[in-house]
Amino acid sequence: MSKPSVAILGLGIMGSGMARRLLSANFPLAVYNRNREKSLPLAADGAFVADTPREAASRAQIILSMVADDTASRSVWLGETGALAGASPGSILIESSTLTVGWIQELAAKAAERGCRFLDAPVTGSKPQAASGELLFLVGGTADVIDATRPVFSVLSRDVIHMGPVGSGALMKLVNNFMCGVQAASFAEGLSLIDAAGLDRAKAIAILTGGAPGSGIVKRVAERVAAEDFTPVFALRWMAKDLGYALDGASGRGVSLPIASAALAMFRRAIAEGLGDEDFSAVTKSPAG
Ligand code: NAP
Repeated sequence: MSKPSVAILGLGIMGSGMARRLLSANFPLAVYNRNREKSLPLAADGAFVADTPREAASRAQIILSMVADDTASRSVWLGETGALAGASPGSILIESSTLTVGWIQELAAKAAERGCRFLDAPVTGSKPQAASGELLFLVGGTADVIDATRPVFSVLSRDVIHMGPVGSGALMKLVNNFMCGVQAASFAEGLSLIDAAGLDRAKAIAILTGGAPGSGIVKRVAERVAAEDFTPVFALRWMAKDLGYALDGASGRGVSLPIASAALAMFRRAIAEGLGDEDFSAVTKSPAG
């Protein structure tokens, strides 16, 4: 069976790995990135480099966006040069960025007006999983659209979980990430106390990561701290974005998340200290207090 043509909008840490996966599986691929320079290495590997999201979308049966935040997503989908304007009726639009549920609902309605099918399909996993095709997609939408997208999902993921109707993938991803942000912030506080008390840092970290507090995310942060390597794999400013979006989503449902609020304050302080473009594990460099 011939492979569906795909467009990827956004070639950051995640989108570039996903695009490369699709190219290596021989999918016809069009790519768009705001900063065109980032598209050029993919052109060398056979991708069509579009000048606008609209042009990329006009060449694809499946259009997947992987950009920073709501503002970026609005900018790639909407307007004269946006992907919606280029998408053919019947094409499948997938928003995989981590975004607010409100914007996802709005985008889904616009997709329907255009006669397109839509999924919110944010992912867990990070740069290595994007590159190796081992992401986990958390999907909102209908089963028939998920089935029609399987050829693409199967190259990009280890699994696809259908969470429910449109918006439920986005909400699940925000729950996942605010809990990760809270754990990273808690680890940063633990380190502050360890340092202030003059405890042996290496021994203390080994006890924490080897014991009950050693969740996957705490282990990942601890590794970066030990290596003193804060090169972004998941940027600190995007973790703050996700905490903020989770708080918005919760307050809209009458739920308060005081621990997520405290973690967001810590991440915002780190951004004010100039750490926003570093890996989120750099929150440990911003002393608690
Ligand atoms: P990234 O490396 O910072 O890339 C961000 C992408 O968004 C770039 O392509 C950037 O274009 C584009 N962008 C930003 N603002 C824009 C705007 N106003 N208009 C158009 N494009 C814009 O981020 P990432 O790590 O790939 O993350 C992408 C999404 O995946 C985010 O929603 C993030 O929360 C989510 N996510 C990330 C990870 C991870 O571990 N990194 C894991 C799961 C989910 P330029 O190149 O032109 O700046």
